[in-house]
Amino acid sequence: MAKTPRLLPQNPRLFRARVLRSERLTPSVQRVTVTGDDLHEFPFLGFDHWFRLFVQRPDQDRFHMPDLDGTKWWPTFLAIPEDVRPHCANYTVAGYRHRSDGTAELDVDFVVHTTADGEPEGRAAIWACAARPGDELALLDQGCIFDAPTDATEVIIAAEETGLPAVVGIAASLPRDTVGHIVQEVPTAADVRRLDAPAGVRVTWLVRDEVDPGAVPGRAALATLQRIVPTDDRGYAFVVGESGLATEGRRHLHRAGLSKTRITFSGFWKREAREPVPA
Ligand SMILES: Cc1cc2nc3c(=O)[nH]c(=O)nc-3n(C[C@H](O)[C@H](O)[C@H](O)COP(=O)(O)OP(=O)(O)OC[C@H]3O[C@@H](n4cnc5c(N)ncnc54)[C@H](O)[C@@H]3O)c2cc1C
Repeated sequence: MAKTPRLLPQNPRLFRARVLRSERLTPSVQRVTVTGDDLHEFPFLGFDHWFRLFVQRPDQDRFHMPDLDGTKWWPTFLAIPEDVRPHCANYTVAGYRHRSDGTAELDVDFVVHTTADGEPEGRAAIWACAARPGDELALLDQGCIFDAPTDATEVIIAAEETGLPAVVGIAASLPRDTVGHIVQEVPTAADVRRLDAPAGVRVTWLVRDEVDPGAVPGRAALATLQRIVPTDDRGYAFVVGESGLATEGRRHLHRAGLSKTRITFSGFWKREAREPVPA
């Protein structure tokens, strides 16, 4: 997907931050609110503004994060000795506020996920659930992925729970005369939230617990998306979440008439085969 400077920062900047609070927002989401000495300079764009998150791993006794050049961060990151290298994962800005004292707060919504045995998994998600005020972290600004062309006749959006912060931000940022359809899957009915979507955008919530509790996240959203046919070939689609939803969703939309340049898709994570391998 072609990126413009508005979407991808030309000089992505690293922000150092510390936890203010960590609380369970809904049954499947842990919200961590952070602040930082220069976080008021974060160039928040709305939509699905995302960042690389760096946090301490459970086996480390302190947070070690060297300064890095945001345009060439990966080699610098890999050069950090493995025993002190922080965990890195991708997250979306779930909320951003300037405070009256000149500082700023940023919310991150972590999907809490577990293994088949019910054990918490995911280093970032586990960090979020255990986060305490004052814990250190860092964020590398990555801009937005949502990239609707100015001539888009409609928007079609589909996501499971990892895409919910992006969908909340996109819904609130869309021009108010936008028309289209949002398909949002969540694990439980209590994870459903209010979306500030334009009146012409239909919102369909799918609750996995009520459809098929054991299903792979994103399958219900995919089934609904596959029943949506774009009105014409000048729409724009945004499909994110588990890899199967992203790739199969894109395949459907392309077959239904949208060119690949009008479909943004991103596998936010991949469901691994967890079944034991037969001996
Ligand atoms: C641009 C972008 C923005 C994103 N924004 C958000 C966001 O705002 N909130 C959010 O929660 N996620 C978001 N994600 C997805 C997130 O980066 C992944 O889910 C990531 O794997 C979580 O990191 P972790 O350290 O918790 O898990 P990892 O240590 O990477 O994974 C451990 C295991 O958990 C599995 N796993 C990972 N995520 C899930 C899940 N959601 N459900 C079930 N199993 C899972 C993995 O397959 C793996 O087996 C975003 C991804 C991208 C690319």
